Amino acid sequence: MVQLSTGEMLRDNIARGTPLGLLVEPILAAGDLVSDEIVIAMIREKLSSMDSIRVIFDGFPRTSAQAKALEMLLEELSAPVSSAPLLEVPEDELVERLLERAKIEGRDDDNPETIRNRFKVYLEKTQPLIDFYAARGHVKPISGLGTPDEVYSRLKSVV
Ligand code: AMP
Repeated sequence: MVQLSTGEMLRDNIARGTPLGLLVEPILAAGDLVSDEIVIAMIREKLSSMDSIRVIFDGFPRTSAQAKALEMLLEELSAPVSSAPLLEVPEDELVERLLERAKIEGRDDDNPETIRNRFKVYLEKTQPLIDFYAARGHVKPISGLGTPDEVYSRLKSVV
């Protein structure tokens, strides 16, 4: 399966200094969401260039508008969603991990202030998607605690 991470695509544009990268750089630095139009267009372009749609969406969809657009897009491509794994990790543990990642990857948005905003944005905009996918029977809750290998094997069992 191909992993499609909208965050990675955006960071790649920032690193290459493209017009899109210049536009979104301050948005990522603040931990806000890039506009639905931009993100949906990026995903649409990627999917349309693929022969077979076997994809793990990472960090997408993050809003109801994105989820609805994805649903329509996948319908057009006759590629139904098989599952929406819900990785459950307590907030304290997540903050610890993000601060640890800051030391390794040096991501601009892994600092305490931006992390706080990303949680706020998640609760407001993204958490409601759990109901959206639960209503379609796609949500598979798994614990995100433990070693990467442990989480990976739980994830594999629901994908
Ligand atoms: P991530 O790598 O998934 O943690 O995303 C890093 C940042 O990229 C987010 O905080 C947003 O600013 C932006 N971003 C990534 N994916 C999306 C998305 N689906 N919708 C809007 N903004 C996004």
